[in-house]
Amino acid sequence: MTEDKAVPVTMKDVQAKADEKKCVAAQLLVFIEEFLAEPMCGRCFPCSFGSYEARIRAKRLTAGTASAEDVERLKRIGGNMLEASMCKKGKDTAAYILEKIATGDLLEHLSGLCASRECVDFDKYIIIPGKCTMCGLCLDVCKDSAIKGEKREAYRTGYLPFEIIQKRCTKCGECVKVCPENAILVISAREMENKDAPVTK
Ligand code: SF4
Ligand code: SF4
Ligand code: SF4
Repeated sequence: MTEDKAVPVTMKDVQAKADEKKCVAAQLLVFIEEFLAEPMCGRCFPCSFGSYEARIRAKRLTAGTASAEDVERLKRIGGNMLEASMCKKGKDTAAYILEKIATGDLLEHLSGLCASRECVDFDKYIIIPGKCTMCGLCLDVCKDSAIKGEKREAYRTGYLPFEIIQKRCTKCGECVKVCPENAILVISAREMENKDAPVTK
C-alpha cells in the first residue's frame, strides 16, 4: 500500500490564496499566514521573527485596531527581511509586504475604512427605526440572538423597537437578506461617526 504524500505549499500557492481577497490588508494577512503555515522554515531570524511580527500588525489592520505605528513597523520589517533573509522565499515575502504598503490602502484602514468591505470587523449592521415595520423576520433568522425587539401585534402599543446588539452580531448578513423594508444597513465605522442612528453597544 502506498502512502499519500503531502504536496509542499509553494510561494505560488501562498500568492494564489492571497489573491482570493480583494482588500489589500486582507491580502497581506492571508499571504503572511499562508507563508508562516508552511514555506517559512524558521532557519533565519529576520524572516521568521519578521513574519510573526508582520502577522500581528496585519491582523490589527484587518480588525480596525491598527495605528500608524503598525504600518511603520511593517515597513521596517519588510526592509529588514528584504536585506537579511537567507533565501528568496523570505525576500519575496518582504517584497510583498512593501508592495502592499506602497498602495496606500493600508493607511485608509487606519481611519476605519475598508473600501472592499472585506474586513467585516469594520462594519456594523444597524436597523433604521423609521423604516422598520416590526415584522420580526430578522429576529427569527438571527442565529446569534443579536436582535432585540417585539413583533407588531394587533391592538397593542408600547413595543420594544428592533435593534441590533453589536457585541453579539457576527455579521453573517442573514437579517439583511430577509428584511422586506430594506431597513437594515451595513455601515462602516467611519460612516457611523457621522450618523445619528441608534446603536446598542
Ligand atoms: S528566509 Fe528562507 S531560510 Fe530564512 S526563515 Fe525564511 S524561508 Fe527559511
Ligand atoms: S448580521 Fe447576522 S448576526 Fe448580525 S444581526 Fe444580522 S442575522 Fe444577526
Ligand atoms: S425584518 Fe426589517 S422590517 Fe422586519 S423587524 Fe427586522 S428590521 Fe424591521
